[in-house]
This record gives sequence, C-alpha cells and structure tokens, in this order.
Amino acid sequence: MSATQPSRAVKLGCIADDFTGATDLANNLVRSGMRVIQTIGVPQGGIGEADAVVVALKSRTIPAGEAVTQSLDALAWLKKQGASQFYFKICSTFDSTSDGNIGPVAEALMTALSTDFCCVTPAFPENHRTVFKGHLFVGDQLLSDSGMRNHPLTPMTNSNLVQVMQAQSDGKVALIEHATVNAGGAAIQDKIAHLRSQGFRFAIVDAIDNEDLLSLGRAISMMPLVVAGSGVAIGLPQNHGLTPSTKAAQLPPAAGLQAIVSGSCSIATNRQVAEFIRAGLPALAIDPLRIAAGNNVIQEALDWASKQLGTQPILIYSSADPVSVKEVQGQLGVNDAGAMVEHALAAIAKGLVELGVRQLLVAGGETSGACVQALGIAQMRIGQQIDPGVPWCYAGASACGADIHIALKSGNFGTPDFFTKAYRLLS
Ligand code: ADP
Repeated sequence: MSATQPSRAVKLGCIADDFTGATDLANNLVRSGMRVIQTIGVPQGGIGEADAVVVALKSRTIPAGEAVTQSLDALAWLKKQGASQFYFKICSTFDSTSDGNIGPVAEALMTALSTDFCCVTPAFPENHRTVFKGHLFVGDQLLSDSGMRNHPLTPMTNSNLVQVMQAQSDGKVALIEHATVNAGGAAIQDKIAHLRSQGFRFAIVDAIDNEDLLSLGRAISMMPLVVAGSGVAIGLPQNHGLTPSTKAAQLPPAAGLQAIVSGSCSIATNRQVAEFIRAGLPALAIDPLRIAAGNNVIQEALDWASKQLGTQPILIYSSADPVSVKEVQGQLGVNDAGAMVEHALAAIAKGLVELGVRQLLVAGGETSGACVQALGIAQMRIGQQIDPGVPWCYAGASACGADIHIALKSGNFGTPDFFTKAYRLLS
C-alpha cells in the first residue's frame, strides 16, 4: 500500500479478536486522523464512509479453527469494502496459548493475502505495554510476573514473545531488536528483507515509545498485514497523508435523553457510581437477589426512569462492592448471577431507548456486549475520546430504529467523574 492522498476508499481493514479491544484500536486510529467505523461481527451489507473499518469478533479464546474461519470471513468482507492493508488486533498482553489463536489466525490471513512475512508486536507504550529484546513488559513487570500469569483462560507464563509466537506458529519467528527500530523505518525495512531471505515468516518487533511505533508504521506501509495490539495504529494514518486532528472524531450532533447503565463492579466504576450519587443526580440500584426472587425489576427500573428522565443524566446500576458481589455469587453461582444481571441491564437499556434515551453510556465489558446485542447495534462510527480507551460512538439508526450516541466503558477505565464528564463532552 503506497502513500496516497486521503480518499473516500477504506484504507485499512482491521480484525479484532474481542469487542473492547476493537474499540481501543478504533479509538487510536481516530486519534491519529482516520475516520473509523466499528462493526459488531461481520456485517451483512456495506458500511458508511470511513478510512478504516474494525470488525469486532469474539475469537480470542474460542477453538483455533473457529477463530480462523471467523477471521477469514472478516477478511473477505473487508476486501470487498476496498481495504488493501489489514490489521489483526490482538491483546496488548498477547493473550494466547500454544494452540493459538494468534499464530493460526495470522498464518491463515497471510495465506489468504499471499504474503510471506508479517510484523508482530503488542507494544503500546502509552498504555505501559513495551517490548524489549522480544520480552513483553506490563508496566515495570515482565509479562510472566504480572497478574496475567494467573489468567483463567490464557495464563501468560513466558515473557519471551519470540518463543510464545513460535509455539503456536508453523513459520519461523525472528526478532527485530530495538537498536534496529531506533535506527528508523529504512533500517527496519532492511532487516525485514534480510529475515525474509533467511526464511523467517514473522518478526516480533521491539518498541518502547511512540517514536518506535511511528518508525514501524512507516516501515510496513507496503505490507499487507500487521499483527499488533492497538499501539501500532498510531503509526499507520501517516502513510495516507493523515495527521492527528479532531476532524476524524466528528459525529452528528447528539440530542435526546441521557442515561447510564452500569453492570461493572470494578473499583473504578464503583467510584464513578459514588461520584454520580454524590453530585445529587438520580440513581437507582438493581438488586440481583430481587431479580432472582422473580420481581419484575426491569419494569420497576423503567417506571422509575420514566419519572426521572429529563434534562440531566440518570443512572441505573447493579455495580456493587466485592463483599456484596461475593454474597450474590454465593447464592446464585458466579455465571448465573452474571448472566442474569447482564440480561436485566440489557433489557433496561433497550427499554430506556424506547423511552427516548438517545445518549447512552454503558459501564462494563460484558455488560456492554449484552446491551449492544439487545439494542441490535451492527456498527458504530467512532468519535471523540472521553478518557483513554473510551470514545463516544454514533450507532445511527441501527439501534432499535433510534438514532443514538453510545459509549461503552470497560470496567477499569475512566476518572471518578467519568459519568458526568462524558455528557459535558458530548454537548
Ligand atoms: P467489567 O468490565 O468491570 O469486568 P463486566 O460487565 O465485564 O464489567 O462484568 C461484570 C459482571 O458482573 C457482569 O457479568 C455482570 O452481570 C455481573 N454483575 C454486575 N453486578 C453484579 C452484582 N451486584 N452481583 C453479581 N454480579 C454482578
């Protein structure tokens, strides 16, 4: 893909292996000057005008064969939209096992794109993910010393990404060291040419600051595929003559009633709920045990909301402190409690939109997934960042036939005043 003037065609096609990761990538592309649409799964039809499209899959921990099939479907659809360069977005902590899914998906995409080499890096220094001598650091810790070593599905016990990638790939994996990256885009390209001639198919790329990512972006401008966390996104818009500006983040003006639905029980979200209540704004707590006892909590919440909705945002939340959550989980079971609360909050979100809410904020990763599904949102245009990793989005009329703005906050994101700040920003 050569450097060109901005045009209407989709320049970059992205496949993300989970939902909030997709938004994170979209947010970085927008900040760097690209107009971005994120789709939920592979759409049936086409999309609106955008420089980049991010297809959000949920393929991180499913069987590798299924992840490959879904990713190839996404690739075929993105090609149809005109994309000529592709970005396989993985987790910034390289979440995977020796079965995949990073290696198998990357190799399948390379075969489909008839390319024999691909750079790989989860580095995102702004978010404290750096790669040095092929080793991934999470803040000051090696990946294998971080909490990720105890992850229930993808425990990361080896920080050496060359080894981790090799264990799940047929092709040979090499390293592009920081000294080369530091020497700039041309040095990286020389190294890629050398590795290619030696029969390598992948290179883990060191990156410890934004300058490294910008150099890498320049070096891979002609390569069909990159496998990366969201960090590399900051280095790609420059290849199309695009520079950071607020223009790419412009959404249609927001109007209509404002509401927040929160199912996240993270420390950050609990603080945000407390701050919203402290500010004297209307808030209603949902008690999971009352749902389990058969009360029509959804209707009760919507009746309450219909009286409260007006000129200021309202909050409906199941967010609770760890002791209450444990108690609920002890009585209902962890999975059943989670699914029941997600279902109730999603139904409430749908009911709120039917009551006229057009500016909806959802807190919680799983909760967001449930709400987006209940609302029937198929795609969203990505707008301005509220806090790192959380942009306002415009779902257009794909949501219940209503024209809505939506922000999806994963648990630990956002400052304590996030719930009020978000609406100030939108207005
Ligand atoms: P986060 O992004 O903070 O992890 P999620 O929405 O992904 O938030 O996960 C929170 C989970 O906790 C969801 O499954 C949600 O339904 C569940 N949950 C929410 N409130 C409660 C509660 N009071 N008791 C038990 N589980 C809850």
